[in-house]
Amino acid sequence: MRLVVKFGGTSLAAAKEIREVAKFVGDIGKKNQVVVVCSAVNDVTDQLLDISGFVQKGNKDAAKAQLAKLKKQHMQLARESVLGAKTRKQLLQKLDSDLAELEGLLHGMSLLGEVTPRSLDYLISFGERLSIAIVSHAIIDLRGRSVALTGKEVGIVTDSNFGSSKPLMDTTRLRVSAKLDPMLSKKIIPVIGGFAGADQHGHITTFGRGGSDYTATIIASCIRADEVWLMSDVDGLMTADPKMVKDARVIPEVSYVEAMEMALFGAKQIHPRSFEPLLSKKIPMRIRNSFNVDNPGTLVTADPSEETMRTVKCVSVIRHNGLIDMRGGSMVGAPGTAATIFSTLAKAGINIMMISQSPSESSITIVVKKHDLDRAVNTLEMNLLGKMIKKIDVTTDVSIIALIGSGMRGTVGVASKVFGAAARNEVNVVMIAQGSSELNLAFVVKDSDCQAAMQALHDEFELAST
Ligand code: ASP
Ligand code: MG
Repeated sequence: MRLVVKFGGTSLAAAKEIREVAKFVGDIGKKNQVVVVCSAVNDVTDQLLDISGFVQKGNKDAAKAQLAKLKKQHMQLARESVLGAKTRKQLLQKLDSDLAELEGLLHGMSLLGEVTPRSLDYLISFGERLSIAIVSHAIIDLRGRSVALTGKEVGIVTDSNFGSSKPLMDTTRLRVSAKLDPMLSKKIIPVIGGFAGADQHGHITTFGRGGSDYTATIIASCIRADEVWLMSDVDGLMTADPKMVKDARVIPEVSYVEAMEMALFGAKQIHPRSFEPLLSKKIPMRIRNSFNVDNPGTLVTADPSEETMRTVKCVSVIRHNGLIDMRGGSMVGAPGTAATIFSTLAKAGINIMMISQSPSESSITIVVKKHDLDRAVNTLEMNLLGKMIKKIDVTTDVSIIALIGSGMRGTVGVASKVFGAAARNEVNVVMIAQGSSELNLAFVVKDSDCQAAMQALHDEFELAST
């Protein structure tokens, strides 16, 4: 099989783990053609973002101190992950030159005292540059053949939308397959840095947080892989967050659309665009635990079994939001009301997570993130209150709970089960929304009711046992 195996930062947090990753990859590489994609080590991307914050505030000393810490962390990881003297020396030299480039970049950014989207992407792409050097040399240390390549080096070409770029797939496909196919036929294991590529001018771009998943699926599509595995520190997609629902368990199989819905809801953080490259070639994805490789994890597939199609998959939650209810007689039968409200909020950069309008058209309710709430209310008050909107009511600290699964489609009685279970547990439902795809039934409760509501739904749909 041709496999793309992506390791998240928690799977690379210590030398012991990096050696295990190298061994795992070497083992599966005996029978398969393997491409490895790596995130930055543990919280390194956050550390790089901290550095950019210090640069922006003109705090050079703090930026330098943080860089020194980063350097020490990687040098130590390198020394402990690679034991052979010659390989280790090569690795340390490589890290030295990458870190010197990083230091030069920081120097330049500090002189200017500004962080542009372009320099920020260049800066935060270093996490993956450092991690792939270590992982690739750890594979060589165990007598494997391996080459480390950044997203740019492997040929991922993107638009110039720094911070959330998209790949230009036609060019990328040609370049990536030309680069990787010959390596794979020689049994060399490429270790590719996730998260970043370069635009047509060669400037480094990133895909947004969690973007290494996206890199893995882009590569998989380019080399027509048989499967993509996302390895992290969880066993797979779960029926609920195990911190909130005690008998939550791993879901064996989901469809792409269900996984996409779950990714958006943050059940396990998967970059939401990761599924796009897989769709046309129907490449299956497995979500697995690098610390528990005997566990098959969750299979995400284009052709789910009949059994899979029939079930509700999970209860997800987004906590800590605010709800805004807008009323007014002049909203009734007035075309453009919703458009005005939404474009006013969009101009203020506020993302709306959930919408509902009563058929009488006298009220529209929306949910936004808690940190956007004050700004959203101010914007609405300044622009629309007293005109289109007569009254604004705000509820703070609400959770959105969503039931996800294709088993709801066309099934009678799902809503009554959901709200019956909520009622029996004395949970008050504040707002409801269901898209007509029937993949997702979402409702809003007070944060303080959230755990009870989740457990009630998990029990009601017997998610612990089906
Ligand atoms: N290192 C990047 C991040 O932390 C990308 C990734 O981990 O997928 O967001
Ligand atoms: Mg990460």
